[in-house]
Amino acid sequence: MIAVDGPAAAGKGTLARRLAERYGLRHLDTGLLYRAAALRLLRAGSDPAQAAAAAAAAAGVTDDDLADPALRDEDVGQAASVVAAHGAVREALLGLQRAFAARAPGAVLDGRDIGTVVCPDARVKLYLEASTEVRAARRLCELRSRGVESIDSRVLDEIMARDARDRRRSAAPLKPAADACSIDTSALDADEVFERAVAIVDSRLSSA
Ligand code: C5P
Repeated sequence: MIAVDGPAAAGKGTLARRLAERYGLRHLDTGLLYRAAALRLLRAGSDPAQAAAAAAAAAGVTDDDLADPALRDEDVGQAASVVAAHGAVREALLGLQRAFAARAPGAVLDGRDIGTVVCPDARVKLYLEASTEVRAARRLCELRSRGVESIDSRVLDEIMARDARDRRRSAAPLKPAADACSIDTSALDADEVFERAVAIVDSRLSSA
């Protein structure tokens, strides 16, 4: 079990996918679960800040929800970070994540609280960081590659708003686990991040 945590656009998803491929593990992008709960609420016209409605939406999330391309939209990401601040939502999504992690042959989960709450016993915990500006530039590129036009300052503001909510919430705030290995990806490309992560995973596996 490998945990990959960090803020938005730090490179977690790409790294987690590549690690899963390398070590023959399954991969779960846990952000999709919070996004799916948020999308259910937005489509129903409900307020993501309402705890009871948000918990009910989270309880209804199934695997079928996770393939919807609308999950990637920035407004869904913002709503997801509002939804994710409710303890009852996190509780509702915990079983699904732990069940996924427990199934053979093992898994790579990426998110915000994998090493701290979801899988505190993960064999390897990685925490990716990058400067806010670099993350905003990456998000802008990703949006453009999907044909979505946006402006730099708006993307930067959205990343900062999401960071603040994710770090300051009382339920499972974003922070590195005490035993996580941090990688600052600001000046690294995806291949370099992957090489560093593989070196960390291999050394953890050989010392286990
Ligand atoms: O990773 P992604 O940007 O898709 O996550 C969307 C939102 O879901 C995050 O901003 C965060 O608030 C929430 N999230 C979380 N815990 C996770 C994964 C995502 O709180 N493990």
